Amino acid sequence: MDLVVILGIDLGTTCTVTAGIGDDGRPVVLPNSLGETSTPSVVHFESADSVLVGSTARTAAAVDPDNTVALIKRRMGTEFDLFFHGVRHTPESISALILRAVAGDVPGVRAVVTVPAYFGIREREATFQAAALAGIEVLELLSEPVAAALHHRTAFPDAPDTTLVYDLGGGTFDTTVLRGAEVVAVDGDSHLGGADWDARLASHLLESFAAAVPEVDPHEDEVFLSEVVVLAEKVKRELSRVSSRTVALRCGGASAAVEVTRADVEAMGADLVDRTLEITRRVLDSAAARGVPRAGSVVLVGGASRMPGVARALRAELGVEPRLVEPDLAVAYGAAIRAHQLASPERLRRAGGRMAVVADQPTRSVVPRSFGVLVDDSHDPSGEGRLVVHVVHRNDPLPATATTRFATIVNDQDRVRVQICEQAGDVPSSEPAHNRRVLDGELSGLPPLPAGSLVEVTLGVSADGLLSVTAREPRSGRSLTLESYVDGVVDGGAHAELARSLAGLRVAQ
Ligand code: ADP
Ligand code: MG
Repeated sequence: MDLVVILGIDLGTTCTVTAGIGDDGRPVVLPNSLGETSTPSVVHFESADSVLVGSTARTAAAVDPDNTVALIKRRMGTEFDLFFHGVRHTPESISALILRAVAGDVPGVRAVVTVPAYFGIREREATFQAAALAGIEVLELLSEPVAAALHHRTAFPDAPDTTLVYDLGGGTFDTTVLRGAEVVAVDGDSHLGGADWDARLASHLLESFAAAVPEVDPHEDEVFLSEVVVLAEKVKRELSRVSSRTVALRCGGASAAVEVTRADVEAMGADLVDRTLEITRRVLDSAAARGVPRAGSVVLVGGASRMPGVARALRAELGVEPRLVEPDLAVAYGAAIRAHQLASPERLRRAGGRMAVVADQPTRSVVPRSFGVLVDDSHDPSGEGRLVVHVVHRNDPLPATATTRFATIVNDQDRVRVQICEQAGDVPSSEPAHNRRVLDGELSGLPPLPAGSLVEVTLGVSADGLLSVTAREPRSGRSLTLESYVDGVVDGGAHAELARSLAGLRVAQ
């Protein structure tokens, strides 16, 4: 009989965690081959046929940054080719190497892989492709906050139904309001996370060193500079536990001892915490606008939410005691719970008890990003202006469908180009540069229409996040339906080529 391995994988921007379900029915983290519970999402290409993933890759980054990739999750769903030792790689293939390293590089792996709630179609498709390249069968791509909430409700079955998930990771901040397993509102900042604290603490250490040892310029020593960033991250983590720490720095034959306190780190990041609070207020407002009452539970996830100042600020803001339970493992735990629900319902029923509570509940969600139509701006005197009119909006409940009518602006038009765009930035905007095109088609064969004729465009996003578009000219009754073809994602040929180059690589940690 073939061995089947059921996993939950939190494929993070900075760290990746794998979990399974233990014999007692509870989620357990599966340590990597170095015994670590989380694997840095860093890949180092040692040679044409050998790569390192994780801590060893992060160490190698300091000496050979050009052959090392970090933060690849930020590029998911974009065209971003990288070349190492003459071989082409993409965000999908880099992520596949991380997945291969954490999933044990064995056949027969079936997994729930988590993605941020704000991931659009392309990012999800790219994540799916990454898993396929790693030889992993994806049971479901689960939204990270849903995974965290699933774990939270398993651990605290009596928790209030409305949950705010506050996820401060290494490079991203995401916040979500859920009612049960249903996502009601999402918001976030894709460039705000623990790394911002690291950068500030690193400059503080450098300045302190320069002040103590004026005869050495630490900024000229590249290796020292990258070592200080690694050190800053470590010191920041320690200061979540202790209130002060003396850091020994050595550069250019000189050394200095710099004392850093938790209060220093909190002062350096006060405005960053404020930004997260502002976004949290925004997501709570979106949820309130949908009639969802104040969040009764506040769940902290993401390693950076371990900083004591974070819970303190949230407590002051919301008047609720935030829960910090395994913040860096909760998402993987939730994914493992979900994987077992999907893969073995009988086993779950046998396990009985708490997990059965959530077993058969579908997870409903919202539109992760606004979708709209690219049109000429009839108010622009130059005639060149264009804007995106969003038809379905972020946080509309799924499945979502909406119709908007547009008017043609020149006489005798017998065709209409239909270009559908997806919100690209963190906040919806009508500016074409803040959107990206995901579908493009033409409604043709129309009778010559006078300017001002109407065309109806219906956009639908299904429960599993797929986009469909119908454009219809009411007088002739002609219509165009666009397939949910999404460009920028690796096609079949490219997939085969990437799969071949990955097959020849040895992956170690
Ligand atoms: P992601 O999901 O973005 O990969 P994680 O949730 O794993 O991120 O969080 C990684 C971030 O958490 C890093 O910036 C790391 O420095 C930070 N972190 C981890 N543990 C602590 C801690 N004890 N105190 C402060 N920050 C921490
Ligand atoms: Mg995370």
